[in-house]
Amino acid sequence: MTTISPHPSTPADTAPAGRVLALCGGVGGAKLALGLQSVVAPGQLTLAVNTGDDFEFLGLHISPDLDTVLYTLAGLNDTARGWGRADETWNFMATLRELGAEDWFSLGDRDLAVHLERTRRLRAGETLTDVMGDLARRTGVNARLLPMTDSPLRTVVHTPAGELPFQHYFVKHRCEPVVTGISFAGASQAVANPALRQALADPGLTAIVVCPSNPFLSIDPILSVRGLRAALQDSMAPIVVVSPLVGGQAVKGPTAKIMGELGLDVNSQGIAEHYAGLIDGMVIDTSDAADAAGLGIPVHVTRTLMRSTEDKCSLAREVLAFAASMRLPSRTEAPGASLCKEVR
Ligand code: GDP
Repeated sequence: MTTISPHPSTPADTAPAGRVLALCGGVGGAKLALGLQSVVAPGQLTLAVNTGDDFEFLGLHISPDLDTVLYTLAGLNDTARGWGRADETWNFMATLRELGAEDWFSLGDRDLAVHLERTRRLRAGETLTDVMGDLARRTGVNARLLPMTDSPLRTVVHTPAGELPFQHYFVKHRCEPVVTGISFAGASQAVANPALRQALADPGLTAIVVCPSNPFLSIDPILSVRGLRAALQDSMAPIVVVSPLVGGQAVKGPTAKIMGELGLDVNSQGIAEHYAGLIDGMVIDTSDAADAAGLGIPVHVTRTLMRSTEDKCSLAREVLAFAASMRLPSRTEAPGASLCKEVR
């Protein structure tokens, strides 16, 4: 564990007190979110979750990233398969197939109950925030689970053959098409989740963690919501990203493939460049330690591959200690946000 910082740092072995906000996509993000839930004091963790992957399937509102985070934090996820719920059965899908219905997106029987209930409540006028907050409470999640927005915002993947809705790219076409660009339909009209804005303005917020989620498909949709990037930049809490690359490769999914296709360096430098102007520090894996010196921001080098629960908790502790080591002056000491960024 090494911290390379142009600023003086205070080594800390324990998680700092105070409130924590994490930006999170699905499977990779949820791993660190679970660690954060374990080490942050109860009620002090807020998760801003990507809804750019949301879509309608068979008339149901599906929120894949929110559900992945919900199931993971509630201990209901299938760790062997890597997605969906544990102890799942597939009678609904099997019957759909017999009927010749669309079946490219798999919905387990238990999972289906969530989609049905969520869709019913949304149609009855509740917001996605209300529904997910209630589901989180009912399943014993100990963090505030916030969709980045309750407005419709949909990730669109641009390929040489044309534009693909996100789930068509990700699931139907198994991430095979070359990505030439990504856009977020509805982003400029989307209203940022008011609870998320409140969390960002909270003077008791001590760290903002960007989970090791796919920067393009999971974190950029959050940053695209009108006003959210600026609100993050204005926050007094340090923003720390955990790189989704381990040994210069994605642990799972198309992150490295997309970086190459978009002409970025597939290494920590490429990730740092992508987040330039937003982040104050970066956590990278020991296998990428050689990248640290060239990043130009404080870097913490440690094992970031999360296999066990202990891996997740210890990375969460280190990320928060790293953020605490770069704690910024309070608002009264540094009144202007632009000044804060210079101080950083
Ligand atoms: P998705 O929405 O389900 O694709 O999940 P995310 O966007 O949240 O996460 C995908 C990213 O997580 C990929 O780029 C992976 O490289 C990264 N990832 C998955 N597991 C780990 C891990 O244990 N450590 C690190 N550093 N990254 C991980």
